[in-house]
Amino acid sequence: MFEMLTTVPVAKPDLTSFPHPYQAMGDIIHALASRIYPLCRSITGQGVRDTIDVLRDHIDIIRNDVPSGTRLFDWIVPQEWIVRNAYIIDPSGRQIAEFKTSNLHLLNYSIPVRRTMPLAELKAHIYTLPTQPDLIPYKTAYYTDAWGFCMSHNELLALKDGDYEVVIDTAKVPGMLHYGEYRHQGWGDKEVLLYAHICHPSLANDNCSGLALLTCLAEWMKSIRTYYSYRFIFAPGTIGSLAWLSANEHCLPNVAHGLVLSCIGDGGNAHYKRSRRHTAIIDRIAACTRCGEDQHPLAIDDFSPFGYDERQFCSPGFDLPVGLLQRSAFGTFPEYHTSADNLDFIRPEHLGSSFRMVVDMLSALEGNWTPLNNSPKGEPHLSRHGLFPTIGGHKDQSLQTAAYLWVLNFADGNHDLLDIAERSNLSFMQIAAAAADLLDARLISNLGFLDRKI
Ligand code: ZN
Repeated sequence: MFEMLTTVPVAKPDLTSFPHPYQAMGDIIHALASRIYPLCRSITGQGVRDTIDVLRDHIDIIRNDVPSGTRLFDWIVPQEWIVRNAYIIDPSGRQIAEFKTSNLHLLNYSIPVRRTMPLAELKAHIYTLPTQPDLIPYKTAYYTDAWGFCMSHNELLALKDGDYEVVIDTAKVPGMLHYGEYRHQGWGDKEVLLYAHICHPSLANDNCSGLALLTCLAEWMKSIRTYYSYRFIFAPGTIGSLAWLSANEHCLPNVAHGLVLSCIGDGGNAHYKRSRRHTAIIDRIAACTRCGEDQHPLAIDDFSPFGYDERQFCSPGFDLPVGLLQRSAFGTFPEYHTSADNLDFIRPEHLGSSFRMVVDMLSALEGNWTPLNNSPKGEPHLSRHGLFPTIGGHKDQSLQTAAYLWVLNFADGNHDLLDIAERSNLSFMQIAAAAADLLDARLISNLGFLDRKI
């Protein structure tokens, strides 16, 4: 268990005590997400540099630069995309689809264009969402030479016949792909990867939420001693995780667990996608984790080769124990990849409860020990040890009693706390809190922690 957790209400979760200190953390995460939200990120270029600079106000991120043309497994780092401005002038002289109003208006990685054309020709380069006619879609053309604008379908329908002047002031030049890395040093050799993609422009949930949450988590960890070392990676989708993997293959035997975070700030129920291994420790912990005010179980999805950068970490040549943690699953919420994925869509209370969920998962990694019942013949008389409520009937009390009885029954030296949480259908944190009480009362002993020799 994190040492610091003894001073915040996590080690002994009180399910009635929301809101709690993580609410304040939600405000801090939201404020950081708000600072990076306006930046025009892409898989290369200034937006990523600027974002890393903002995150550096919280933690000392090391920025790694990978030149255009670098081979990364089967991929090649593209030319850097420079964007200065983009807009269309309609037949009445009005500027529309202005990049400076919303960076989603410009097809990400558009080549430069400065030309006048009739509406029919322009329409072939305009992307809209007919079923969500008020929203601007987010579109990319990273690895091809294309140009285009994104706008609301209603705006497209209102365009009148005539000549339109298209201005896309961009360039593709030999430059750099960047990824950021921050390491929290534990006292063991083994590492936990924590990853968020840094390539989407003004989309709040996908993935300003993940970048901001991980940055605040890393900052919060500075005051905590951990067993594991934690590598925080902020990299452009796909090509960025491949760049990190390419540079760090020698470190991979030390990677014991990992999580990719995206879409972590909306109010949906939490989703966890298993690693390719299916039954990795982190996969099992996710199933014993709870989320939100009502401490809901996470929806657990099997591994699939679709999604975010867990695809690269879980490719067969690496097969790392890395899962994907989200609130609403990507692609399933109407705001996904649209202008409605804005700062109102992510809320401090959701970011705070997501932060708690991640801390709970890492606490389980850090604090999974094997208990041994010191008096296994019959149940101990709990009230004699101050562990049984003298007046019964309260729901939370009965849950707590159930957790005591589960731990005592399976504290045979062959089950760790995670095994017991799985058998009991209680959360890991409930089982861990009960085990801590039983240890204090000397009813059980600690036979040791997962993964380490003590
Ligand atoms: Zn996305």
